[in-house]
Amino acid sequence: MLRALLIWLSESRALRAVAEHSAIGQRTSSRFVAGTTIEEVMAATRGMNDLGLTVSIDNLGENVTNPEEARQSAALYHKLLDEVTARGLKANVSLKLTHMGLDIDEKLARENVCALVAHAAGCHNFIRVDMEGSSYTQRTLDFVRELHRVPGHENCVGAVIQSYMRRSERDVEDLLAERIRIRLCKGAYKEPPELAFQKKSEVDANYVKLMKVLLKSGVYHGIATHDERIIEATKAFARAEKIAPDSFEFQMLHGIRRDLQRKLVRDGWRMRVYIPFGSEWYPYLMRRLGERPANMFFVAKNLFRR
Ligand SMILES: Cc1cc2nc3c(=O)[nH]c(=O)nc-3n(C[C@H](O)[C@H](O)[C@H](O)COP(=O)(O)OP(=O)(O)OC[C@H]3O[C@@H](n4cnc5c(N)ncnc54)[C@H](O)[C@@H]3O)c2cc1C
Repeated sequence: MLRALLIWLSESRALRAVAEHSAIGQRTSSRFVAGTTIEEVMAATRGMNDLGLTVSIDNLGENVTNPEEARQSAALYHKLLDEVTARGLKANVSLKLTHMGLDIDEKLARENVCALVAHAAGCHNFIRVDMEGSSYTQRTLDFVRELHRVPGHENCVGAVIQSYMRRSERDVEDLLAERIRIRLCKGAYKEPPELAFQKKSEVDANYVKLMKVLLKSGVYHGIATHDERIIEATKAFARAEKIAPDSFEFQMLHGIRRDLQRKLVRDGWRMRVYIPFGSEWYPYLMRRLGERPANMFFVAKNLFRR
């Protein structure tokens, strides 16, 4: 119930406008977001790299409504790629197609992302296209496939699969047929029962099933979860199948289960932290709150802090 409410609230433009400009909102978001500037996210990335963790940087923003905003978002990602290269950081970038203009004009989004993938290819880097709500699933996967087919772009762009989606097994097969890198996550949006498993046990079981397919595929994938049981199942499967620990990576979100992130690295596994930054943090924060109602205590604490 609470999760559904928070996801619904995450889509409110009015609340978003108020929250993103309030001091309380900014304090609360700082738990999950690494500041608002490129300098701040580069410092956070350096900190992670120093601990042996790699990073995926996300400039927060989604569902932009005018072409200029989309172009500015793309320009910022070009800058991120340049800064990562210039500073010798171990980081790729994650972006959302609706941040690149998908809601306005598909051609514009295609141009923006294609130029970014070409840029990433030129500096031996990688663009992860995040997965949004189900109305974007097919278009996002088509997009990634199309970008991946451009000569020179192989291995420079990857997709995300959500284990709550009933269609995901087939999507994984299609992506693997073209050896496209996948980030596997559970899924963060509210989807109807005809499209998505509703019970945690079903979402988790599908996750484990897909994780095994990914690990056996011989392509470098990301296992994105904070769920200790699934992480243990992944480690056990890798060991049993003699899959090298450097042939895939675990991924987690900035500010969540930092203890576990570091432990995995100490134990010899690869770990990438997804670090979001920017001023448009409201929908991202609301989805994080929805995932763990206990986070609401954290919000309440900030409400009463002076
Ligand atoms: C690197 C990365 C990238 C992602 N990209 C996408 C994407 O492109 N599209 C998409 O739909 N979703 C994405 N997600 C979000 C994902 O779909 C889940 O909503 C989120 O990861 C929570 O699921 P879980 O696997 O951690 O399992 P859960 O069963 O939700 O949680 C397992 C345990 O993890 C901890 N935990 C989980 N979430 C939180 C939280 N918010 N705060 C504190 N503790 C928490 C708790 O201890 C919890 O018991 C991404 C997640 C990660 C880690």
